[in-house]
Formats: sequence, C-alpha cells, structure tokens
Amino acid sequence: MGTLQGELMYLNNLVVNTTYPGVQQAGTSRSSMSLPRPKSSGLLGSEGSCYESLCEQQPIGRRLFRQFLLDSNSQYAAAAKLLEDFDYWQHMEDEAKEKAKMRVLAKFCQPESRTFLFSHAGDAAEKYASLSISNFDEAAMEHVREATRTFLKGGPFSEYLKSPFFYRFLQWKEYEKQKITRKYFYEFRTLGRGGFGEVCAVQVKHTGQMYACKKLDKRRLKTKGGERLALIEKQILEKANSRFVINLAYAYEDRTHLCLVMDLMSGGDLKFHIYDLGKRGIRMERVVYYVAQITSGILHLHSMDIVYRDMKPENVLLDAKGQCRLSDFGLAVELPKGKKICQKVTANDPPQEEEEEVVGGEEEEVGGGEGEIGGEEEIVGGEEEQRRRRDQTHPWPSVGVQYLAQWYPSSALKAGTTGYMAPEILRQENYGMSVDWWSVGCSIYEMVAARLPFKDFKEKVQNEEVTRRTLEDDCKFQHSDFDAPVKDLISHFLKKKGINFHRLEAGLTEPPWVPKPNVIYAKDVDAFRTASEVEDVKLDSKDERFFKEFSTGAVPVRWQKEMIESGTFDLLNSSELNASCQEWRGE
Ligand code: ADP
Ligand code: MG
Ligand code: MG
Repeated sequence: MGTLQGELMYLNNLVVNTTYPGVQQAGTSRSSMSLPRPKSSGLLGSEGSCYESLCEQQPIGRRLFRQFLLDSNSQYAAAAKLLEDFDYWQHMEDEAKEKAKMRVLAKFCQPESRTFLFSHAGDAAEKYASLSISNFDEAAMEHVREATRTFLKGGPFSEYLKSPFFYRFLQWKEYEKQKITRKYFYEFRTLGRGGFGEVCAVQVKHTGQMYACKKLDKRRLKTKGGERLALIEKQILEKANSRFVINLAYAYEDRTHLCLVMDLMSGGDLKFHIYDLGKRGIRMERVVYYVAQITSGILHLHSMDIVYRDMKPENVLLDAKGQCRLSDFGLAVELPKGKKICQKVTANDPPQEEEEEVVGGEEEEVGGGEGEIGGEEEIVGGEEEQRRRRDQTHPWPSVGVQYLAQWYPSSALKAGTTGYMAPEILRQENYGMSVDWWSVGCSIYEMVAARLPFKDFKEKVQNEEVTRRTLEDDCKFQHSDFDAPVKDLISHFLKKKGINFHRLEAGLTEPPWVPKPNVIYAKDVDAFRTASEVEDVKLDSKDERFFKEFSTGAVPVRWQKEMIESGTFDLLNSSELNASCQEWRGE
C-alpha cells in the first residue's frame, strides 16, 4: 500500500500541476533539436490536404496559417482577425457580448475603417455594410464569416501552400509520424480494468502531458475474437474531435499489448458519482451540466453517423476540472449516410436461431463492476471464425446491414446494456440514432433517482422482465425525491438562461463541481492489480498485420494540441522560421 500511496501522490501532483515537468527537464536539450525535413513526395497523402483539415482542424496547421495571414498583407491579416473577433463575439455573454459586437462592427463594417471587410468579403460586405447595428445579428455574422472563409480558401490558401509556413507545417507532420513505442511514456498507476486489460495513467516523457492508456492484451483479443471491435473503437476514438468525447492521442503496440493513449479522466465515472459517494443521486445543477455535455457529445457522434449504443453513466468520465466526456466505444457503429441498423430477418439473412443470440454488453447488475466485462465477452464470443465465414458469404439485403455485417452477425445488432436499451432495439426493429436518446433519458432518470426507470438499484431481475417493463410499462416517477427534482430538471431546461452551447463547446462554461485533486473516484484500486495473462496463444503474420493497422502512432489533432500546450511548438518553431520568412518576404 505504501508504494501505491506514493504513486498516487505523484500522479495527483502531476495531474494537478500542469507545469509539465518533462518539458523543463528536457528543455535545454530540445532547444538545440530541430524538426525533420519533410519527405518531398506525396504532400500529405490521404489524410486530407483540404483547407478545413490543414487550416482549421489541425491545431498546428491553424496556428501556422494564422501566422502566415498576419505576416502577408493587411487584407489577409484583417480576414484572420475578423474570424477571431467573430468567435470572441459569439462566445461572450450579456454586456461583454454587446461590446464585442460593437467593436467588430466598428472594425469591419465601417467603410472608412482600414480593416473594412469589403476588400475580402465581396457581396456579403456590400450587403451588410449598410445594415444598422441592431440588424447585424448572428445570421449576418454567419454570412460574413462564410464569405471570409471562402475568400481564404482561394488565393491566400494557395499562397500559403507555397510559403515557408506550410513547409514548417510539413516538418511538424513529419515529426508527428515518429514511431511510438512504450519508451515514449512513463507509466503510473492503474485507473481501471476493462475486458481486454487494464487502463493506466501515463505521461509523455518529453512534454510532460498526462494521458490514460488502455492496454489490450493481444492474446486475449485473439482468444475472444475482439480484434475487430478493438479496431472499430480505435477508429471511432481517432475520428471524434469533440470536447465531450474522449480524444485519442496515440495508438501503438508493444510485444504483448495494443495501446490506446487517450485523455486522462481522473474524476471518476458518473455511475460512481451516483451510487458511491454518500447521498445517492447527483445534484440537479450538476445533472443539467452533465446532460448538456453528454448531449453535445452524442450530437457530435451522430454528426459523423456513429451510433454510440452504450450511453450510460458508467461510460461518462469526468476530468480533473469536472468536465465530462463519453468513453468506451466498444459497441459503437458507423452507418452509411441515412441508413438504419436493420435487425429484421430476410430470406438472405442468417438462420433464424442465430437471431436469438444475445450480443452486446448485457449487464445484470447496476452496482457490480464485473458485469460489463462479462458482457463484453458475450459480444465477441468464441464463434468468431464461424462469423467470419458467414460474413464473407452473406448477400445482405441493405447497405446499412452490409456495412455492419463486415463486423457483426445480425444478432450483434441487438446491443447495449440492460436497462438502457431502447424499445426499438428490444423489439428487434430497424433502428438508428434514436436509441442513444432513449439511453440519455434513462441516464438522466438514474442521475436523479439513483435507479433506472425499469430496474431498481441492485434489483435481481431477468433481462426478459426488464425488456417486458420497458416495452409495456409506463415510466413511473415514484421515487421519494422524484417529483421536485424532475420539475426542477424540466424548469432548468426551459429556463431562458440555460446552457450557452457556444460557450460550452468553446470550453468557457465553468463546471458546477470540481473533483478533489487528492481523491480517487473509483472503487478498490487494489483489485485491479490481478491481471491474468493468456499464455498459450500463438500470434501469426495475420495478427501482425492487424497490429500494424492498429498501431498508427500519433493522432494529428490531439498530438498537435499537446505540442502547443506543452510549449514544444513555440520552442521548436523558433528563429529558423522567422529567418526563412524574412527571406521569403525579401527583407
Ligand atoms: P472496456 O471497454 O474493456 O470496458 P473501458 O474503456 O470501459 O474498457 O475502460 C475500463 C475502465 O478503465 C473504465 O471503467 C474506467 O474506470 C477506466 N478508464 C477508461 N478510460 C479512462 C480514461 N480515459 N481515463 C481514466 N480512466 C479510464
Ligand atoms: Mg467499459
Ligand atoms: Mg468497451
């Protein structure tokens, strides 16, 4: 216990002091380090050489494009500043918002202003320059913003691609491609346990950035046929770029494990907060805040045609500041546009009896930690080989199913956790994004009442009975504290001054509750220490191919954020760039 305690203290100190000790130690040696030379061929390959990705989404790309604009000429600089000032305006509230708006209008919408937007925003400028201040609303702002982006995507973007700023970006991309191994990180204590291995805290040696590392035991993955699910989880984590969804920073492998390195969430999961901290349930102000973030996270997944299918408080993790994110994408699936998940058996489908197989995280007990792991075993089962063969030969009837059938038998389309599954899943109907909203409803109920609408806390009840209640019974609010909080909840949502989603998305809304830095919000940390290894599985070249596909190293958006936040970007982006820019401007 002594050493564990020591580790915990160390971890907590690291998490609390975001002073990046690694950077300070490594600082001297790194300032002499320089960025690699980009490979001359094939600019950026498949990952997108579009304006959105290069100049908006990737943090380092965004920075360098901005530097380019400010450095080029006053027209480009004005366009860059307009976008920033508009963002600022949008994210302010009340008086500050009015002030920001006046400033924007004076700066960009007065023909006599040096930064008048007519020079780049064309028609939009002509239309809005004559508008009075009260008529210049958010819709007008959106219009001008779009006109500005259209302008930047043209000439300025193509000039940028030929500038030293972009060369510098390519150097960063080259650096980003470095091979990631276990040696890249320090490893700290275990944070939790999943079906394929433990999750532990890690720190990037040279930036000091803390992350959580989910380790998937290669042999266990193989025995349980979990490779495909692991890959889906990785791909979804990698794609998601939201403040409310766990971000993936690195995916790599060592001899024994595939590793997902992601945002460290040290505030525990919401299930723990509902049941294990004295008074059951969560205070209404917190419920509203979490639900706003959960909703934003789910909307983000849906915008990418991803159905989460495992929305429940246990999968919502809090970070050290008290902000929450969705985690655990083992059951998520991506749909082709506009398709639903089809559960109906048709002539071309697998035999009827396979329809009965229950697949997905069927959890028996709300309070228990093991249930989910047992459930996960059921998802992937032992029939992987059989499934693979079936999937190869199956002429599935619709695109949606065809897509899913690459990974699942039709029975796996019934997925989720008992108590949170929507009627359309339980009735084996076609379903789409709606199932996640049902689960959000159940989760809100649970946050308030510390039980599920159709299942009491720790109630020993058959899954069939929960299904029956979900399909047939009305949702009752009979819990002793229910009435008032539910009214409260509803009034919170109907309040004129509710959550400002622009500010929430920009990370500007203070959490109503902050985890204590020296408290561990998880049960029995010691219990995680027993890791059973699977020894007698031989890995072959096919496994190796899969491990390669999985271990793609640094993930652009999160990695670039780390470089910027840790100071590495400023450090390495030093005088070299300034010198070459001066040259480029002919100074
Ligand atoms: P599985 O899909 O195998 O259930 P999870 O992704 O749910 O694995 O991770 C297992 C446990 O590890 C979680 O219940 C949680 O306690 C912990 N955990 C997972 N991700 C993080 C994270 N990013 N930060 C902190 N703890 C985490
Ligand atoms: Mg889990
Ligand atoms: Mg999972």
